[in-house]
Amino acid sequence: MTRETILITGASGFIATHVVNAFLRAGYAVRGTVRSEEKAAKVHRTFSEYSERLSFVIVPDIAQPYAFDEAVQGVVGVIHTACPFKAEVEDKERDLLQPSVLGTFNILNSIQKYAPQVRRVVETSSFAGMLDISKGNWPGHVYSEADWNPMTYAEATNANTPDIATYCAGKAMAERAAWDFMARENPPFDLVTICPPCVYGPNANATADLVKLNTSSAEIYQLMSPMSKPSDPLPPPVVWVWVDVRDVAEAHLKAFEVPEAGGQRFLVSAGNHSSQKIADILRDHVAEVQDRVPLGKPHSGMGGREVYGVDASKSEKVLGLRYHPLEETVVDAARAFLRLEQVV
Ligand code: NDP
Repeated sequence: MTRETILITGASGFIATHVVNAFLRAGYAVRGTVRSEEKAAKVHRTFSEYSERLSFVIVPDIAQPYAFDEAVQGVVGVIHTACPFKAEVEDKERDLLQPSVLGTFNILNSIQKYAPQVRRVVETSSFAGMLDISKGNWPGHVYSEADWNPMTYAEATNANTPDIATYCAGKAMAERAAWDFMARENPPFDLVTICPPCVYGPNANATADLVKLNTSSAEIYQLMSPMSKPSDPLPPPVVWVWVDVRDVAEAHLKAFEVPEAGGQRFLVSAGNHSSQKIADILRDHVAEVQDRVPLGKPHSGMGGREVYGVDASKSEKVLGLRYHPLEETVVDAARAFLRLEQVV
């Protein structure tokens, strides 16, 4: 039987590792893009049981023109996850906006030129691309697929804008660029975008390194690392809403497979959370780190704060998603970090 091949960009990433897993388990052949042979070898080892169905193309920089010309050839679907998610960078344009926007533009162009057989592209966008940072906690507002981050290019590149806000704006610009491309070019494939907020859960990433964790994993690890202690202040999360990484992977698989998903944008989230809630779960359910976790005000939930909510009902209805509860996600994430501590 000839299996259909799916291209997954940024295959060494935290989220992408679970996306690769979901597609391999569903029976597809997967071609991943990674930045080096070394990363390809590591990802290969993670999925050794599927080695005959997993291959790689090296794409050192998605922002370079023609970066994906070779990678897209012969695949029937493309899952574009690659994008830097960093809270601090040297150069906002080079390190955040260009890979986000040009990376998206480059992959769509390469598909149009070299991959007429592609049926659908799924882009990993973000809740960051929906967030209106100027509204702060925005009590009473319920974010949905109707929301767009309104930050302009000039605001995003302003030296006073925090890098994390530039990242958020870049995700909106990349997603808008993708929808604009579809409207302008009317290509033979359709597009689905997936918009997750803070993504947490077990780190299955073969290239994961506890001192260079991806940004959302680092949020949890900093509450339980050997460096943390009960008297430490609890930092606010990047956003007040979250989702399990395994549910995000399932969302990408369903986004590719469900016919009605075509042409749609999906907010995928299990709801509100706070650092306090995560710290309480770690202290109550992961005995090994009990003495490391910042105390805060135990079991005070959202700390009396009124914050925005989310409506992810479209993802449940169209993609059939069911969301993991926070407790399971945090405990599974913590167990994976403890395993990584053993290999250091
Ligand atoms: P990771 O940093 O783990 O993954 C990012 C991937 O993109 C890595 O494989 C990275 O390669 C690759 N990459 C980054 N920049 C480039 C570049 N210029 N050229 C080639 N490859 C590049 O992050 P996540 O798994 O968290 O993020 C994956 C996607 O999900 C991103 O699009 C992100 O915006 C989105 N997202 C993440 C959320 C989260 O909470 N984690 C929330 C919402 C959306 P390398 O590691 O080798 O640099």
